[in-house]
Amino acid sequence: MSKVIPVTSPLLPPLEEFIPYLEQMWESRRLTNGGPFHEQLELALADYLGVDHLCLFANGTLALVTALQALRITGEVITTPYSFVATAHSLLWNDLTPVFVDIDPVTCNLDPSSIEKAITPKTSAILPVHCYGTPCDVERIQGIADNYGLKVIYDAAHTFGVRHNGSSVLRHGDLSILSFHATKVFNTFEGGAIVCPDAKTKKRIDYLKNFGFADEVTVVAPGINGKMSEINAAFGLLQLRHIDRALSMRQRIDQRYRAAIGRIAGLELFEQRSGHEPNYSYFPILVTERYGLSRDQVYELMRQHDILARRYFYPLISEFPMYRGLPSADLGKLPVAKRISSQILCLPIYPDLPDEIVDTVCRLLDQGAAK
Ligand SMILES: *Cc1c(COP(=O)(O)O)cnc(C)c1O
Repeated sequence: MSKVIPVTSPLLPPLEEFIPYLEQMWESRRLTNGGPFHEQLELALADYLGVDHLCLFANGTLALVTALQALRITGEVITTPYSFVATAHSLLWNDLTPVFVDIDPVTCNLDPSSIEKAITPKTSAILPVHCYGTPCDVERIQGIADNYGLKVIYDAAHTFGVRHNGSSVLRHGDLSILSFHATKVFNTFEGGAIVCPDAKTKKRIDYLKNFGFADEVTVVAPGINGKMSEINAAFGLLQLRHIDRALSMRQRIDQRYRAAIGRIAGLELFEQRSGHEPNYSYFPILVTERYGLSRDQVYELMRQHDILARRYFYPLISEFPMYRGLPSADLGKLPVAKRISSQILCLPIYPDLPDEIVDTVCRLLDQGAAK
């Protein structure tokens, strides 16, 4: 039996490097509630990412839910159907109405010209996703938000460490949300964060993630328990020591795929744009009509060879039962998202992925072209 190759797999530093953190925890008996590792990780991440303030969370979904509360978002929120389902779920958890608009075929991100058409008097915010870590058209989105008085919250779950024109992509919008789930480029087993521009907003978010406690006897809001524990924070500090190596290992794999797949007729790659420093978190390809097999046939072919390529994102969020009744979920209004969702396939990419597997994937794709 050969081993199944997942689409992603975490970089695990040597176990013995984690032991000193555990010893410190046993010594201090601080397990959660903003302990020393939590404090260190917030500062270390803000520094590494090049942002001003950062609030750690137990996961990215709670960070999204809390970000919407922190900015007191109401009514309708314009968002993308082409994302992980947690993006829209965070709206339902806040009693907000998602308004789906179509995406741009080059970036897979919200198409700014569609955003403007979807604005109504009830719209209070835009919730875009930097899909696969590719930055949204942040300038145009901010321009629209300024014109109409809307907040912008970026779901930046894919965007750890991504820079554009020398500056962090996380510095755009009112808030940005990160996920440190085990499947992401930087992980704390489970975890997440809100990136925010000022200390006052950070303070409010810190209350909201801790039941609304402002001090021992004062509760200022019906806050959630969104705190990251000390064990997750300690693992994050350890990961951070290895992140640059992990990113360069991913870059090597990205280049190996590009060199081989770029030549195959009917398959399309997403080009890297100038001024962009990516994190190589995903390797998406489009299986177009010109290819010998359908996307689902390629997916099955990979599975037969124990390679678990993934259809991120298929189905669209707007196709799930809790969303499909919304007027904006009409597939006729989302033609680009629908097409990309039917052609997309994300290939395995992670630091320890052996070159032979990359070559096997490329060989299978090459054979499929001839069918
Ligand atoms: C992973 C992910 C989330 C959810 O993050 P969790 O940490 O798993 O809760 C939200 N949005 C997007 C786009 C994601 O990829």
